[in-house]
Amino acid sequence: MSRREELAGALTAVEARLAAACAVAGRPREDVQLIAITKTRPASDVALLRDLGVEDVGENRDQEAREKAAAVPDVRWHFVGGLQTNKARSVASYAFAVHSVDRPALVDALSAGALRADRELAVLLQVSLDGDPSRGGALSADVPRLADAAAAAPGLRLTGVMAVAPLGTDPAAAFAELAEVSARLRATHPEATAISAGMSGDLEQAIASGATHVRVGTALLGERPPPSR
Ligand SMILES: *Cc1c(COP(=O)(O)O)cnc(C)c1O
Repeated sequence: MSRREELAGALTAVEARLAAACAVAGRPREDVQLIAITKTRPASDVALLRDLGVEDVGENRDQEAREKAAAVPDVRWHFVGGLQTNKARSVASYAFAVHSVDRPALVDALSAGALRADRELAVLLQVSLDGDPSRGGALSADVPRLADAAAAAPGLRLTGVMAVAPLGTDPAAAFAELAEVSARLRATHPEATAISAGMSGDLEQAIASGATHVRVGTALLGERPPPSR
Protein backbone atom coordinates (compact mmCIF):
# COMPACT_ATOMS: atom_id res chain seq x y z
CA MET A 1 0.00 0.00 0.00
CA SER A 2 1.37 3.44 -0.88
CA ARG A 3 1.73 6.12 1.78
CA ARG A 4 -0.99 8.06 0.03
CA GLU A 5 -3.38 5.09 0.33
CA GLU A 6 -2.43 4.63 3.98
CA LEU A 7 -3.14 8.27 4.76
CA ALA A 8 -6.36 8.23 2.73
CA GLY A 9 -7.61 5.23 4.71
CA ALA A 10 -6.71 6.81 8.05
CA LEU A 11 -8.38 10.07 7.02
CA THR A 12 -11.56 8.23 6.08
CA ALA A 13 -11.57 6.47 9.47
CA VAL A 14 -11.01 9.73 11.37
CA GLU A 15 -13.72 11.43 9.32
CA ALA A 16 -16.12 8.62 10.28
CA ARG A 17 -15.27 9.11 13.98
CA LEU A 18 -15.82 12.87 13.67
CA ALA A 19 -19.16 12.39 11.92
CA ALA A 20 -20.31 9.85 14.51
CA ALA A 21 -19.21 12.02 17.45
CA CYS A 22 -21.00 15.06 15.98
CA ALA A 23 -24.15 12.98 15.42
CA VAL A 24 -24.09 11.74 19.04
CA ALA A 25 -23.59 15.31 20.28
CA GLY A 26 -26.36 16.64 18.02
CA ARG A 27 -23.92 19.01 16.34
CA PRO A 28 -23.39 19.66 12.63
CA ARG A 29 -20.14 18.21 11.31
CA GLU A 30 -19.10 21.67 10.07
CA ASP A 31 -18.88 22.79 13.70
CA VAL A 32 -15.68 20.82 14.18
CA GLN A 33 -12.47 21.50 12.33
CA LEU A 34 -9.84 18.79 11.94
CA ILE A 35 -6.21 19.81 12.43
CA ALA A 36 -3.70 17.16 11.36
CA ILE A 37 -0.78 17.12 13.79
CA THR A 38 2.23 16.20 11.68
CA LYS A 39 5.09 16.48 14.22
CA THR A 40 7.98 14.06 13.53
CA ARG A 41 6.47 13.31 10.09
CA PRO A 42 8.06 14.47 6.83
CA ALA A 43 6.77 17.38 4.77
CA SER A 44 5.86 14.82 2.10
CA ASP A 45 3.13 13.52 4.45
CA VAL A 46 1.80 17.07 4.81
CA ALA A 47 1.69 17.43 1.03
CA LEU A 48 -0.18 14.12 0.69
CA LEU A 49 -2.71 15.17 3.35
CA ARG A 50 -3.17 18.49 1.56
CA ASP A 51 -3.82 16.63 -1.70
CA LEU A 52 -6.41 14.55 0.19
CA GLY A 53 -8.21 17.74 1.23
CA VAL A 54 -6.72 18.55 4.65
CA GLU A 55 -6.41 22.32 4.99
CA ASP A 56 -5.21 22.68 8.59
CA VAL A 57 -1.97 21.24 9.92
CA GLY A 58 -0.32 21.57 13.33
CA GLU A 59 3.16 21.28 14.79
CA ASN A 60 4.65 21.70 18.26
CA ARG A 61 8.25 22.77 17.58
CA ASP A 62 9.30 25.93 15.80
CA GLN A 63 12.22 24.68 13.76
CA GLU A 64 10.37 21.65 12.43
CA ALA A 65 7.24 23.71 11.76
CA ARG A 66 9.14 26.48 10.00
CA GLU A 67 10.83 24.04 7.62
CA LYS A 68 7.60 22.24 6.77
CA ALA A 69 5.67 25.49 6.37
CA ALA A 70 8.26 26.61 3.83
CA ALA A 71 7.92 23.28 2.00
CA VAL A 72 4.10 23.23 2.07
CA PRO A 73 2.89 26.82 2.31
CA ASP A 74 -0.64 26.23 0.96
CA VAL A 75 -2.20 24.91 4.19
CA ARG A 76 -2.98 26.76 7.43
CA TRP A 77 -0.24 26.10 10.01
CA HIS A 78 -1.29 25.85 13.65
CA PHE A 79 1.31 26.02 16.40
CA VAL A 80 0.23 23.84 19.33
CA GLY A 81 3.35 23.35 21.48
CA GLY A 82 5.05 25.07 24.36
CA LEU A 83 6.62 28.25 23.01
CA GLN A 84 9.58 30.25 24.26
CA THR A 85 9.33 34.00 23.71
CA ASN A 86 12.54 33.98 21.65
CA LYS A 87 10.82 31.73 19.09
CA ALA A 88 7.69 33.89 18.89
CA ARG A 89 8.96 36.03 16.04
CA SER A 90 9.68 32.98 13.92
CA VAL A 91 6.30 31.38 14.66
CA ALA A 92 4.51 34.63 13.84
CA SER A 93 6.10 34.60 10.39
CA TYR A 94 4.35 31.41 9.22
CA ALA A 95 1.60 30.40 11.66
CA PHE A 96 -2.08 30.98 10.99
CA ALA A 97 -2.89 30.34 14.67
CA VAL A 98 -1.05 29.74 17.95
CA HIS A 99 -2.99 27.49 20.34
CA SER A 100 -0.53 27.58 23.23
CA VAL A 101 -0.62 31.17 24.48
CA ASP A 102 -0.38 30.92 28.25
CA ARG A 103 1.35 34.02 29.62
CA PRO A 104 1.48 37.79 29.07
CA ALA A 105 5.11 37.79 27.88
CA LEU A 106 4.14 35.45 25.04
CA VAL A 107 1.24 37.74 24.05
CA ASP A 108 3.69 40.63 23.79
CA ALA A 109 6.28 38.64 21.84
CA LEU A 110 3.72 37.25 19.36
CA SER A 111 2.20 40.69 18.90
CA ALA A 112 5.60 42.15 18.08
CA GLY A 113 6.31 39.26 15.70
CA ALA A 114 2.97 39.64 13.93
CA LEU A 115 3.48 43.37 13.47
CA ARG A 116 6.98 42.82 12.18
CA ALA A 117 5.75 40.22 9.67
CA ASP A 118 2.75 42.42 8.81
CA ARG A 119 0.41 39.50 9.53
CA GLU A 120 -2.56 38.86 11.77
CA LEU A 121 -2.24 35.86 14.05
CA ALA A 122 -5.15 33.99 15.62
CA VAL A 123 -4.41 33.15 19.26
CA LEU A 124 -6.01 30.62 21.57
CA LEU A 125 -5.34 30.67 25.30
CA GLN A 126 -4.04 27.35 26.59
CA VAL A 127 -5.66 26.42 29.90
CA SER A 128 -4.06 24.09 32.43
CA LEU A 129 -6.80 21.73 33.58
CA ASP A 130 -4.83 20.03 36.34
CA GLY A 131 -3.67 23.20 38.05
CA ASP A 132 -0.04 22.43 37.21
CA PRO A 133 1.03 25.24 34.87
CA SER A 134 4.60 23.91 34.74
CA ARG A 135 3.32 21.61 31.97
CA GLY A 136 1.97 24.51 29.95
CA GLY A 137 -1.27 26.41 30.12
CA ALA A 138 -2.55 29.26 32.21
CA LEU A 139 -4.53 28.67 35.38
CA SER A 140 -8.21 29.26 34.65
CA ALA A 141 -8.17 32.10 37.19
CA ASP A 142 -5.59 33.89 35.05
CA VAL A 143 -7.52 33.52 31.79
CA PRO A 144 -9.53 36.79 32.03
CA ARG A 145 -6.41 38.95 32.39
CA LEU A 146 -4.61 37.06 29.63
CA ALA A 147 -7.66 37.36 27.38
CA ASP A 148 -7.81 41.12 27.84
CA ALA A 149 -4.11 41.37 26.97
CA ALA A 150 -4.46 39.19 23.86
CA ALA A 151 -7.59 40.99 22.66
CA ALA A 152 -5.87 44.36 23.01
CA ALA A 153 -2.57 43.32 21.40
CA PRO A 154 -2.01 44.68 17.91
CA GLY A 155 -1.55 41.99 15.27
CA LEU A 156 -3.34 39.34 17.34
CA ARG A 157 -6.94 38.13 17.16
CA LEU A 158 -8.21 36.29 20.23
CA THR A 159 -10.21 33.32 18.94
CA GLY A 160 -10.67 30.96 21.90
CA VAL A 161 -9.19 28.45 24.32
CA MET A 162 -7.17 25.24 24.07
CA ALA A 163 -6.35 22.39 26.44
CA VAL A 164 -4.80 18.96 26.61
CA ALA A 165 -6.63 16.55 28.90
CA PRO A 166 -4.34 15.73 31.86
CA LEU A 167 -2.91 12.21 31.83
CA GLY A 168 -4.61 9.71 34.09
CA THR A 169 -7.86 11.61 34.51
CA ASP A 170 -11.26 11.37 32.87
CA PRO A 171 -10.99 13.48 29.70
CA ALA A 172 -14.74 14.16 29.77
CA ALA A 173 -14.41 15.95 33.12
CA ALA A 174 -11.45 17.96 31.85
CA PHE A 175 -13.27 19.00 28.68
CA ALA A 176 -16.37 19.96 30.68
CA GLU A 177 -14.17 22.25 32.76
CA LEU A 178 -12.71 23.74 29.58
CA ALA A 179 -16.24 24.40 28.29
CA GLU A 180 -16.93 26.40 31.46
CA VAL A 181 -13.75 28.42 31.01
CA SER A 182 -14.83 29.07 27.42
CA ALA A 183 -18.32 30.21 28.47
CA ARG A 184 -16.87 32.66 31.01
CA LEU A 185 -14.43 33.96 28.39
CA ARG A 186 -17.20 34.51 25.84
CA ALA A 187 -19.14 36.60 28.35
CA THR A 188 -16.49 39.30 27.97
CA HIS A 189 -15.00 38.33 24.58
CA PRO A 190 -17.91 36.99 22.50
CA GLU A 191 -15.69 36.60 19.44
CA ALA A 192 -13.51 33.98 21.20
CA THR A 193 -15.64 30.99 20.21
CA ALA A 194 -12.98 28.39 19.42
CA ILE A 195 -12.43 25.41 21.73
CA SER A 196 -9.36 23.43 20.68
CA ALA A 197 -9.58 20.11 22.50
CA GLY A 198 -9.43 16.44 21.69
CA MET A 199 -6.68 14.30 20.20
CA SER A 200 -6.58 10.79 18.73
CA GLY A 201 -7.61 9.13 21.99
CA ASP A 202 -10.30 11.48 23.24
CA LEU A 203 -11.82 13.40 20.33
CA GLU A 204 -15.30 11.95 21.00
CA GLN A 205 -15.34 13.30 24.57
CA ALA A 206 -14.05 16.66 23.36
CA ILE A 207 -16.76 16.97 20.70
CA ALA A 208 -19.39 16.03 23.28
CA SER A 209 -18.17 19.01 25.36
CA GLY A 210 -18.26 21.49 22.49
CA ALA A 211 -14.81 21.28 20.88
CA THR A 212 -14.60 23.27 17.66
CA HIS A 213 -11.09 22.12 16.74
CA VAL A 214 -9.63 18.63 17.23
CA ARG A 215 -5.89 18.05 16.93
CA VAL A 216 -5.29 14.57 15.56
CA GLY A 217 -1.85 13.06 15.05
CA THR A 218 -1.49 9.32 15.68
CA ALA A 219 -4.89 8.31 14.29
CA LEU A 220 -4.02 9.94 10.97
CA LEU A 221 -0.29 9.43 10.61
CA GLY A 222 0.43 6.37 12.75
CA GLU A 223 2.45 5.91 15.93
CA ARG A 224 5.28 8.39 16.30
CA PRO A 225 8.80 7.17 17.00
CA PRO A 226 9.69 7.67 20.68
CA PRO A 227 11.39 11.04 21.33
CA SER A 228 15.15 10.82 20.93
CA ARG A 229 17.18 11.64 24.01
C1 LIG B 1 0.99 15.61 19.52
C2 LIG B 1 -0.14 16.52 19.89
C3 LIG B 1 -1.45 16.23 19.50
C4 LIG B 1 -1.84 14.99 18.72
O1 LIG B 1 -1.82 13.88 19.58
P1 LIG B 1 -2.26 12.43 19.07
O2 LIG B 1 -2.53 11.70 20.32
O3 LIG B 1 -1.12 11.88 18.30
O4 LIG B 1 -3.47 12.60 18.23
C5 LIG B 1 -2.44 17.14 19.85
N1 LIG B 1 -2.16 18.27 20.55
C6 LIG B 1 -0.91 18.57 20.94
C7 LIG B 1 -0.69 19.82 21.71
C8 LIG B 1 0.14 17.72 20.63
O5 LIG B 1 1.38 18.03 21.03
